[in-house]
Amino acid sequence: MSESLRTEPLPSLSPRPVDSVTSRVAAPVVETTDDLILEVKDFSVDYGWGEEAVRAVNHVNLNVHRSQVLGIAGESGSGKSTLVYAITRLLRAPGIITGGEATLHLGERGTAQGDDNVLDLLAATQRELRKIRWSQVSIVLQSALNALDPVQRISSEFEEILKTHRRDMSRAERRVRAVELLGMVGLEEDRLARFPHELSGGQRQRVMIAIALALDPQLVIMDEPTTALDVVTQREIINELHELRSTLGFAMIFITHDLSLLVELADEIVVMYAGTVVERAPASALYEAPRHPYTLGLLSSSPPLHGPRNELTGIPGSPPDLSRLPSGCSFHPRCPYAMERCATEEPPLRTLDDSGRSVACWLHDDDPSVALPEVLARATPLRVPTSQTKTFVPTRSAS
Ligand code: ADP
Ligand code: MG
Repeated sequence: MSESLRTEPLPSLSPRPVDSVTSRVAAPVVETTDDLILEVKDFSVDYGWGEEAVRAVNHVNLNVHRSQVLGIAGESGSGKSTLVYAITRLLRAPGIITGGEATLHLGERGTAQGDDNVLDLLAATQRELRKIRWSQVSIVLQSALNALDPVQRISSEFEEILKTHRRDMSRAERRVRAVELLGMVGLEEDRLARFPHELSGGQRQRVMIAIALALDPQLVIMDEPTTALDVVTQREIINELHELRSTLGFAMIFITHDLSLLVELADEIVVMYAGTVVERAPASALYEAPRHPYTLGLLSSSPPLHGPRNELTGIPGSPPDLSRLPSGCSFHPRCPYAMERCATEEPPLRTLDDSGRSVACWLHDDDPSVALPEVLARATPLRVPTSQTKTFVPTRSAS
């Protein structure tokens, strides 16, 4: 199976404005840390070196808790893939992690393994990384539809991973597990004897998800796993992931450019623009009462899954060239509410009064002279997303 990073042509490079890197303030986060599984602090990634460097991930903070689904949304080019490749150490040159921390908490706090079972992902050796990859953290890459070996039957993919990581399993047991895994993603046993080209795109993607779940990982990262599929299949796979998360209790980072997909799956959503987190909120709050004009634009670009279909207005213009980021707030040239200040000062990500939300936008700076547009001031819904009301029953210990 290929773990290769999709590479894109380098954008034209030129020095970036220096102020935009240093002025960002880490978000104060109101939450408990007891059940943290992944902690990312002040994390930055560049492509290229020195004067030629472009910043693809800019001082990002995020936490993932046990059994939580964290959604990451943003248009293509906003740094979503770069962020997760870098965290999982799959980033290839010319990508370089230029700052920050990424820590995996593998033991349950308060247990015998407790806080000792912590892995500094950026300092981890390749051996340490191999030990946790697939078994603790698995990732379905954006290019997953072509990630299966074309000359191997599907059974070999399961054989390979189970043989390597579950040495105590017999051949018969591996077969039973492969059938069980396929069943979990709605595929029949007969798929095992097939080659990838004999499966539909949706079936191949389900196989990839089954492989990602094969070793009962604690954290599953899905990078646009359904983007290449038709909407009906997308929807089915999202529902299956929702179910699987509920029964198996793994945490998940789900990346997509389509916010409407995330709303039902994610507990919390982080919105990225030009490498920066511009808004972070519980999924229902973000969907029903966005605070950042970019989030509002994204919502109006994707059709709702349920309810009335409003006319899609989208966001004017296109994402910026990272080598020529606009001054101030990177979004200001496309923002219908931009003020003078937005062109010169970069807004920090600030926690808002209503708990659990942060936004990087001068409209929310409590300046009495600024009239906050009504669409960005809707009351935060009280409704808890359905996925948070479920009781998770982990099927195994967290070791
Ligand atoms: P997303 O996943 O949100 O679409 P990416 O993380 O793929 O965004 O890309 C973020 C930015 O980094 C883009 O502007 C892209 O052009 C740039 N980038 C991605 N890969 C490379 C690379 N190998 N070399 C240079 N720039 C890259
Ligand atoms: Mg991507």
